[in-house]
Amino acid sequence: MEKLIMVKYGELGTKKDNINLFLKELKKNIDFILSDLKPNITYDKGRMFISSDEENFSKIEDKLKYVFGLRGYCIVYKLDTRDVNEIGRTALELIKDKDIKTFKVVTKRSDKNFPIESLEISKRVGGIILPHFDNLKVDVRNPELTINIEIRIDSSYIYFDTIKGIGGYPVGTLGKGLLMLSGGIDSPVAGYMAMKRGIKLEAIYFEAPPHTSPEARNKVIALAKKLAIYNNDIKLHIINFTEIETSIYKDCPRDYLITIMRRMMYRISAIIANRQNCKALINGESVGQVASQTLISMGVINQVTKLPVIRPLCCFDKLEIIDLAEKIDTYETSILPFEDCCTIFVPEHPVINPVAKLAEEYENRIDYKEMIYRAVHSREVIDISAEETNKFADLL
Ligand code: ATP
Ligand code: MG
Repeated sequence: MEKLIMVKYGELGTKKDNINLFLKELKKNIDFILSDLKPNITYDKGRMFISSDEENFSKIEDKLKYVFGLRGYCIVYKLDTRDVNEIGRTALELIKDKDIKTFKVVTKRSDKNFPIESLEISKRVGGIILPHFDNLKVDVRNPELTINIEIRIDSSYIYFDTIKGIGGYPVGTLGKGLLMLSGGIDSPVAGYMAMKRGIKLEAIYFEAPPHTSPEARNKVIALAKKLAIYNNDIKLHIINFTEIETSIYKDCPRDYLITIMRRMMYRISAIIANRQNCKALINGESVGQVASQTLISMGVINQVTKLPVIRPLCCFDKLEIIDLAEKIDTYETSILPFEDCCTIFVPEHPVINPVAKLAEEYENRIDYKEMIYRAVHSREVIDISAEETNKFADLL
């Protein structure tokens, strides 16, 4: 008998023509996250199997919680026989120490030519198990334990509970996107949701030293590391925004400061995205959250780029976002109290219904093209490496 981990695919089942591409990427991602455990991974269109040394099983299970494209996984016991009595005896051996009152057996025949019907196999296995317990009953509706049996072409499997995976598509199958990552609560969650749809992330952060502190930058790096666990690794582009921000502050009307600042962020993000082959910008904007996130504001800000802008949180309220941030363990980092460049220069009454023509007129007062050029060329790029991520190092 061989002990394996069986991986069940998520939405991939619906990808008929492209399934191989998706599975290749999923295997690559699993290989990557498990690389220090040296597992052996095989797959076909239905399932993926991971074999490894016994002592690594729980570590593998822990890490699979970070892989998108997984509907679930379970420990399976593979038998090189399809003899029903042998299957029954093995199932009994596996459960004999469990303290259960009710159970059921569910059988699936992947090999439909197998001469015994599924229901009959379940009955026979149940018949082998029952006499060995004093108070055990079959309960097909709500059993404490389900024993799953699968009959394949030349082998059979026994497995119990399926542990739920995080679903979605394998990261990388839908191309790359550039996440605008601030130190706030929203943007890491937006990044998580984009990765869930198979988008591999790079990230961009705007800082304004000395108005923003090294701690604020470290916080963003810590958040990027948390996201990198799902993303295999992550490239973080850090843009010095001080010159642009102070020029806007000096020469543009205060109420348009945020609108213009965000148009500059979008312009720079679009340049980096194009260079890095990222096909969309992703950010944590949510309709109505602040003045720059009214529909009119978003429209005026969005005008500076033709790239699609994905806003996974646009229709979420803050409490829903916080729930997710807690779930993905970014919340505690996000609420550390370091100032972000937007918050430092925030005016008292930002315009909520900006006019595009006015925004253009005001921003033309500064030589922003030159400044953008300088900001892009002096950017710092941090590769949050595979190794670091793999170690699940202390992230702060
Ligand atoms: P968050 O939205 O992440 O909680 P925030 O509320 O401080 O941070 P907003 O002013 O709501 O940020 O900005 C909306 C979005 O714009 C952010 O979610 C993020 O995607 C992007 N953004 C804001 N500031 C920055 C920054 N300094 N660097 C990179 N992206 C930023
Ligand atoms: Mg926000």
